[in-house]
Amino acid sequence: MKKLADYTKTDVLIVGAGVAGLYCALNLPDNLNIIIITKGELEECDSYLAQGGICMLRDENDYDSYFEDTMRAGHYENNTESVDIMLRSSQDVVRDLIKYGTRFEKDEKGNLAFTREGAHSAPRILYHEDITGKEITSHLLKAVKKLPNVTLYENVTMVDIISSDMKNDLNPYCQGIVAQLGNENGKLIRILSNEVVLACGGIGGLYEHSTNYAILTGDALAISLKHGIKLRNIDYIQIHPTTLYSQKPGRAFLISESVRGEGGILLNDKGVRFTDELQPRDVVTKAIHDEMARTGQKHVWLSMEDIPTDIIKSHFKHIYEHCLEEGYDCTKEPIPVVPAQHYFMGGVDVNSDSRTSMEQLYAVGETSCNGVHGANRLASNSLLESLVFAKRAALKIAEEYDNTRYDEELADMIDVHEYENMEQIVSTYKESVLSEIERMKKYHEQHNNEIKRRRPDSVSA
Ligand SMILES: Cc1cc2nc3c(=O)[nH]c(=O)nc-3n(C[C@H](O)[C@H](O)[C@H](O)COP(=O)(O)OP(=O)(O)OC[C@H]3O[C@@H](n4cnc5c(N)ncnc54)[C@H](O)[C@@H]3O)c2cc1C
Repeated sequence: MKKLADYTKTDVLIVGAGVAGLYCALNLPDNLNIIIITKGELEECDSYLAQGGICMLRDENDYDSYFEDTMRAGHYENNTESVDIMLRSSQDVVRDLIKYGTRFEKDEKGNLAFTREGAHSAPRILYHEDITGKEITSHLLKAVKKLPNVTLYENVTMVDIISSDMKNDLNPYCQGIVAQLGNENGKLIRILSNEVVLACGGIGGLYEHSTNYAILTGDALAISLKHGIKLRNIDYIQIHPTTLYSQKPGRAFLISESVRGEGGILLNDKGVRFTDELQPRDVVTKAIHDEMARTGQKHVWLSMEDIPTDIIKSHFKHIYEHCLEEGYDCTKEPIPVVPAQHYFMGGVDVNSDSRTSMEQLYAVGETSCNGVHGANRLASNSLLESLVFAKRAALKIAEEYDNTRYDEELADMIDVHEYENMEQIVSTYKESVLSEIERMKKYHEQHNNEIKRRRPDSVSA
């Protein structure tokens, strides 16, 4: 792989190569030069981990029900325009994925097969075994690698953006980034670009227990805070109800929602079922936490005894194999499960074209917040949301590219030596994001209390 030099110039720079970054690149015009960077290895991103699947609006008859399921899961705080766009774009996106080679499960007649997950009132989720994310992302990556106008660089970490705010511009624009090559002592460089797309994924790396890759530490959020770029709902963090309980350190292994969708039930330490497993994630998570507190246990149990063994071994092949490695045969016995940080509904505030509050700066995928998920994400809506709005970013960039501003002096105004103490920067960034999450949490609590005070008979969703 080629090495990046200081002062490298490109037309569009995409920070992140998950589904959002890759699909954005695939939808940009081929006359633009594109650089994509990733903080770790190419495959070290949450897109590869998605198990359950990707939602699709099956037909017009399902529109109202899918819309309502998304809104209800999101506590009706969703942006209805974004939800509508996502649903209406879903078939196009799926057609594209199939065109790039993604294989989705089919029924005996050769039609696409759909599964169901928690809080969905109908089966509308496409899947490939229980490795849908890997199937989609690897095919997108293959397609991107064929594009002559795109260059991918691994192990390059964005540490800041370059913006005209340095010149006290009242309407600042972005013009590239400062990045570090390799490890914490790596060389610092400037990558200059007329348009920058933040596709940096979630924030699980900020937490002790998370299903996310540890390198995903919300860097785009910290950098946005530093530059006064608007964030939205960054305290809206989804905890997944069921990850395999393990005493080993490292990323928590997810037990997909569709296991419960297919009939998996939750049991306490006495083998007694204590909740409806198909409620929205936050409700199931609360029920598990309450049960753990009541019984004093570190986990609850998930039983798959009502799921036929052949379905477990085909649809949930990787979960089955992973559980075996951990010493549990899930076709014969319940497995211990515990909630863990999983998904980030908030993020860098964007409009329906994925534009941030700073010109020439876009944000897509889990790093961004267009309000589609409201306060809580409906299962399997995130791959879809990432793809739909990444494409919209690409189309908008194509439209506005000729009018972008560019100032030769900006890169020279950056002193890369200011970024040499990376340990300090990482710790400051982490602290700033976590304190902003706490601040927003308090703000939402006060806001909700105020609503209750004004309408004492209102019941929270
Ligand atoms: C275990 C698990 C299971 C899931 N299952 C499903 C599912 O079934 N269905 C569904 O819809 N969703 C699922 N999700 C959520 C979904 O996978 C993610 O929301 C989605 O893949 C996010 O894609 P992304 O492109 O935004 O980010 P990612 O795929 O996480 O990619 C982030 C990229 O940003 C790069 N990056 C980050 N910071 C920097 C930096 N400072 N400099 C340079 N590069 C940087 C990373 O290197 C990486 O390339 C699941 C998530 C997990 C963790």
